[in-house]
Amino acid sequence: MSGQRVLNMAREQLATAASILNIDEGLHQVLAHPVRQVIVNFPVVHDNGEVAVYEGYRVQHNLSRGPTKGGIRFHPDVDVEETTALSMWMTWKCAVVNIPYGGAKGAVKVNTKQLSRREIEKLARRYATSINMIIGERSDIPAPDIGTNAEVMGWIMDTLSMQHGYTVPGVVTGKPIELGGSEGRVEATGRGVVVSAIEACRATGIDFEGAKIAVQGFGNVGSVAARLSEQHGAKVVAVSDATGGIYNENGLPVNELYQKFSGVEGGIRNYKECDEISNEDLLEVKCEVLMPSAIQEQITEKNAKKIKAKLVVEGANGPTTPEADRILGDKGVMIVPDILANAGGVVTSYFEWVQDLQNFFWEEDQVNDRLAKIMQRSFASVHDMAVKHKVDMRTAAMLIAVQRVAEATTMRGIFP
Ligand code: GLU
Repeated sequence: MSGQRVLNMAREQLATAASILNIDEGLHQVLAHPVRQVIVNFPVVHDNGEVAVYEGYRVQHNLSRGPTKGGIRFHPDVDVEETTALSMWMTWKCAVVNIPYGGAKGAVKVNTKQLSRREIEKLARRYATSINMIIGERSDIPAPDIGTNAEVMGWIMDTLSMQHGYTVPGVVTGKPIELGGSEGRVEATGRGVVVSAIEACRATGIDFEGAKIAVQGFGNVGSVAARLSEQHGAKVVAVSDATGGIYNENGLPVNELYQKFSGVEGGIRNYKECDEISNEDLLEVKCEVLMPSAIQEQITEKNAKKIKAKLVVEGANGPTTPEADRILGDKGVMIVPDILANAGGVVTSYFEWVQDLQNFFWEEDQVNDRLAKIMQRSFASVHDMAVKHKVDMRTAAMLIAVQRVAEATTMRGIFP
């Protein structure tokens, strides 16, 4: 199972940080394990009347800095180990940008492409009910991830509210605006990726305007990152989605691609003024900035040597393996790690939650400005740490995050 590999990868990253920080073995073990893993099996009646049983998970990694926070993934390849790794990364992500949450993640093993909208709704509602004893606006707040979106979050909010007997908007973020969602939340992860890329370009002497960018993944993260990069004057030369990739060294009209082909049968491959490439080829095209924004374990020891980008900005969670980290590091490639680069989503989720708890909603400009400030400040602190300790950006981000979580855990003390 690839989940175990991903969990090993997350634990290896923690071990590196724990050893530099001289964290004692007991505390290291606390941080290496999730506080709660719930596995559920639940039935859904399909449109044809047949019953199918689905397996789902909700994992909470660490509660020291506040309620746990993290998305829900609907994907056929998930397992409890992968969900655990993703929950750990959420803990570090919230800590590195200093928002008051611990990390969590949820998932259901399902291929939603084979389900009708009504079946997906029933699955979401039943999954939410199966984990309702551990989620809540003060305890654990889900959000969208791969395979889920605002509509699914709306159903989950409604399901939990029906069970409470009153509306509880703060129980989930990434909701439709009409149901207490925040302006700017849908674009927030991609926006944060681009803010990070601009900061990283500045730090490494690359001019973002005119820089060639390749984006793997054209979902909620990649499509926004590509479009905002274009708006900031960069040249997006390659993009890919589940159908494969496209490349044009003179640049692709990403906004047009998004308007015309997103969600359309055949995807971006419907566009013809380009070369067709595979998702693997995309990672190796000639560009200054590579944004892997699809899924984990894409840059590995097999292809790391062939990567031509000077900067890798991780829109996805866990796209680069520790072996690839070392190879790219030796080549002088800067990697802006996932826990920093894609934190924009959870930062704006935090804004949404605060707005829901206060029943007081902000303008889109306020949301985007506050997001940009947090991303810039976090980038600067990670970069300073990297320079000070002569470590790469991932280790630097982990040092800041692990230190914050370790301090909170120690200050609270071990109960009883
Ligand atoms: N699923 C997103 C992530 O991996 C967002 C999580 C959230 O907003 O809670 O960061």
